[in-house]
Amino acid sequence: MAGTRKPVVEVRRSQRRRRTVSAYRDGERVVVLIPDQFSRAEESEWVDRMLARLAAREGRLARSDAELLARAARLIGLYLPEHTSAAAPASVRWVTNQNGRWGSCTPADRTIRISHRIQDMPEWVIDYVLLHELAHLIVPSHNAEFWALVARYPRSERARGYLEGVAATAGVP
Ligand SMILES: [Zn+2]
Repeated sequence: MAGTRKPVVEVRRSQRRRRTVSAYRDGERVVVLIPDQFSRAEESEWVDRMLARLAAREGRLARSDAELLARAARLIGLYLPEHTSAAAPASVRWVTNQNGRWGSCTPADRTIRISHRIQDMPEWVIDYVLLHELAHLIVPSHNAEFWALVARYPRSERARGYLEGVAATAGVP
């Protein structure tokens, strides 16, 4: 995603927009939505600004597997300090094929996968999903011992409510 090619930009003017500008990638193109009343100078200023913003966002995504692993180490230190070896994952990766699950783990090879769908959620929700999977490396099933580990994270309940709300809105079970 960190290509150096300058993207093809398509600017779309909207009469309904007053001040908001947004941009998204559509295949090879970047579509920038601007208010109809913008001058040419404003248009070019905002196109540059939105391209920079998009590149920054994609840069964050690109390096986030390493960030996830660092995040896992921090969570283990904070909430599972007596399980530093049992909870240590062999790998933690962002994946796009989770089909309705926020995260999953394979205790046998100690790998954890986290859905890209939570990438833009608040930090404390990402922490919860990751801690949940780390706890599974210690206790594979959803038994009382497992939930006691997860409950050490103060915002567990709140994060579960947040995720249930998102799932309900999206029509995901
Ligand atoms: Zn679970």
